[in-house]
Amino acid sequence: MENKALVWKWVEAHQAMFCALSDRVWGMPEICYTEYRSVAEHTSMLQQQGFRVTENVADIPTAVMGEAGEDGPIIAFLGEYDALPGLSQAAGVAHYSPLPGNGHGHGCGHNLLGSAAMLAATALKSWLEETGMPGRVRYYGCPAEEGGAAKSFMARAGAFNGVDAAITWHPSAHHEVAKPLSLANTRMDFAFRGRSSHAAASPHLGRSALDAAELMNVGVQFLREHVPQDSRIHYAFLDAGGVAPNVVQAKSTVRYAIRARDVHAMFELNERVKRVAQGAAIMTDTQVDISIMSAVSNLLGNRPLEEAMQRNLEALGPVPFDQADLAFAAEIQATLTPEEIDNCYRKTGVKPASPKPLSDYIIPLDMHGEVMIGSTDVGDVSWVIPTVQAHIPTMAIGTPGHSWQLTAQGKMPAAHKGLAHVAKVMAATAIDVLTDKMLMAQMKKAHFEQVSEKPYHCPIPADVKPPVQPRPDAL
Ligand SMILES: [Zn+2]
Repeated sequence: MENKALVWKWVEAHQAMFCALSDRVWGMPEICYTEYRSVAEHTSMLQQQGFRVTENVADIPTAVMGEAGEDGPIIAFLGEYDALPGLSQAAGVAHYSPLPGNGHGHGCGHNLLGSAAMLAATALKSWLEETGMPGRVRYYGCPAEEGGAAKSFMARAGAFNGVDAAITWHPSAHHEVAKPLSLANTRMDFAFRGRSSHAAASPHLGRSALDAAELMNVGVQFLREHVPQDSRIHYAFLDAGGVAPNVVQAKSTVRYAIRARDVHAMFELNERVKRVAQGAAIMTDTQVDISIMSAVSNLLGNRPLEEAMQRNLEALGPVPFDQADLAFAAEIQATLTPEEIDNCYRKTGVKPASPKPLSDYIIPLDMHGEVMIGSTDVGDVSWVIPTVQAHIPTMAIGTPGHSWQLTAQGKMPAAHKGLAHVAKVMAATAIDVLTDKMLMAQMKKAHFEQVSEKPYHCPIPADVKPPVQPRPDAL
């Protein structure tokens, strides 16, 4: 614990700078691969703190990596800073009030995520310097978590090779070690091409791409009965061919998201959906071009790392929220439905007898609530190296993910307290990995056992490049 007391004091002494970084990123919300200003903020902070900086990681201009220390094992902290469209909102008010501008907002709290991960990395850097321990610490600034799968592209490019463990977190309403549950997910576009014709005078000469896309969707509806129950298949029309009903539509594109519990099951499901599309093309005498836009793997857990993180979480106790934090969280809760609040408790399986608007308890490691899962690109990192994630409260219980209420709380003192608290949990877990040889060995064994039979295979094909966006002229 002496080691940890040192690093926790360091976090307390330096947290203000990282809260300010988080607030600046909150104030410049940038989405999916356009995070040029946010990555510039993270890069200059890494330089100020004395990290050796690598820009343009995996040929992504909005990704950055900072490294410090010499020799020894390498611990990585993963950060994010991308925002979401449509979630602009004034800070510190408990009613819907979007700010002027492009409408983007930090509705998933990634401003906090990146700053806390860098605070943990910087605290560990100072601990390595103080103790003279061999070991290296890295901070990875990862863009485009929302829909861009940047970490999968980074993993495919080998950006995490040689790292011993990855530690990260996500803003939450609870204190817990995140369950290693997420769905593998592929975004795939099906572009049908037919032949246009006058829909009344010469329909027999036309071949309808719109018919093909509709038949594909119908085929997939029938497929649903015969896929594993935890699979998910959704679609959206990107192009329905046009607005003229008197034209046989010569082109039509439909985008699919295909999710499965495991990346290998997803590969199989992808092939089945592709065959449905090919069947639809045969039925309509059209052609189909199929392209994967992005993909992520499911998360793999690492029990020894999860146990270490849980011990640190319990040693630290809950985030020290004060009366003012509770009062604002209560105002936010007043904008939520009872179902939203109840759903938040059901997810964890724990509901205290006298619930407060902010969590003041730690969820046990083996608590199983109602599992509701999406997908995350942290999944790909977890296939390459042992990975663990914390959830720490930065928001009122019941706050929906991707909501104006979440944006409104992203700069509040409660969020800053969560940011510093989770940096302590993450840095302490890193110290455990560096100082406890048994933990290091068990963590590696647990990882090897999971990937030895089915090694990592990036779900994004080698020829698909990250959809990087141009740097704005103003920068
Ligand atoms: Zn998120």
